[in-house]
Amino acid sequence: MRFAAAVLRSYEERFAVEEVRLNEGPADGEVLVRIAGCGMCRTDLAVRRSGGRSPLPAVLGHEGAGVVAATGGTGTGLGVGDHVVLSFDSCGHCRSCLAAAPAYCDSFAPLNLFGGREEHAGRFTDAAGGELAPRWFGQSSFAEYAMVPARNAVRVDPSLPVELLGPLGCGFLTGAGAVLNSFGVAPGDTVAVFGAGAVGLAAVMAATAAGAVTVAVDRHPDRLALAERFRAIPLPAASTDLPAHVRRLTGGGARYALDTTGSAELINDALRSLRPAGHLGLVARLRTALPLEPGTLDRGRRISHICEGDAVPGLLVPRLIALWQAGRFPFDQLIRTYPLADINEAERDCDAGRVVKPVLIPEGLDTWSTPHP
Ligand SMILES: [Zn+2]
Ligand SMILES: [Zn+2]
Repeated sequence: MRFAAAVLRSYEERFAVEEVRLNEGPADGEVLVRIAGCGMCRTDLAVRRSGGRSPLPAVLGHEGAGVVAATGGTGTGLGVGDHVVLSFDSCGHCRSCLAAAPAYCDSFAPLNLFGGREEHAGRFTDAAGGELAPRWFGQSSFAEYAMVPARNAVRVDPSLPVELLGPLGCGFLTGAGAVLNSFGVAPGDTVAVFGAGAVGLAAVMAATAAGAVTVAVDRHPDRLALAERFRAIPLPAASTDLPAHVRRLTGGGARYALDTTGSAELINDALRSLRPAGHLGLVARLRTALPLEPGTLDRGRRISHICEGDAVPGLLVPRLIALWQAGRFPFDQLIRTYPLADINEAERDCDAGRVVKPVLIPEGLDTWSTPHP
């Protein structure tokens, strides 16, 4: 079958929205999903800085949601017409997967970042027959269609606006999962969130929903205004002695801190903001070495990396939808939609901080006739 997809051919080029071809139907345990919308996540954009480790050309996009168009075999648990939110891939049988921690799957990197399963090489090609990487994060959803393992697809109520739900499969799941799963934030806890982008603001919303006192640190005033709308106390990142401010605002130090920036300087500030036995979670890849100042980990303080919000997507995605329906997780306020054809504009807006969460809406091949730059 032929459909439109945004292809990334080299680490320097813009995306090219063009016709691609799917040369085989779903294998056993897979479903073909017609994508209604796909969020753009930092990890999609980080491919440009990945040093050639993710295979190109590829169709990126790993916050897809849509409608099942075909199923492979009878054991997928899904039927044609089901509405689904797609999440990251995992093997399902390593020790982490068996322990309901699929984000720490032994095969996470090869399955999600390095092209997926080898047996699917050649299933996607461009119009000239050139091979595309078989899969990105178990999906490749900057496209009209994605072929995904059914275990990555979470069925949702068809009355929901499915085109907006994709970011619940990665970015929003990461921030909210850190708060709800990794920290287990309880009413009255104190949470400091460093970096109020899509992941940080999802953490703020979840912390507020969980009844915490939340401080949000960012350098953009508009991001701080959003954090304040979600009932966090805004704190400009340029403030002198950030940790002292956080300790004052949280009555002696935050029980939990979440860094979404990867900046060693802010991570040290976050550590110095913790109360005794406080926990700092890191969700971004560290950009430099992390020199720890003496004393920062004293008295039971700890630091850990958190991947995909420690989530089992099939459990956390419905929970976030239920919170949204109750008005307590208004993630839709962070979204701006773009036609898939405008993916390069979405990337520019994302890089410039003009949009928190772009969601790309695919249009059919027949809705455009000239190739986009
Ligand atoms: Zn696994
Ligand atoms: Zn992501």
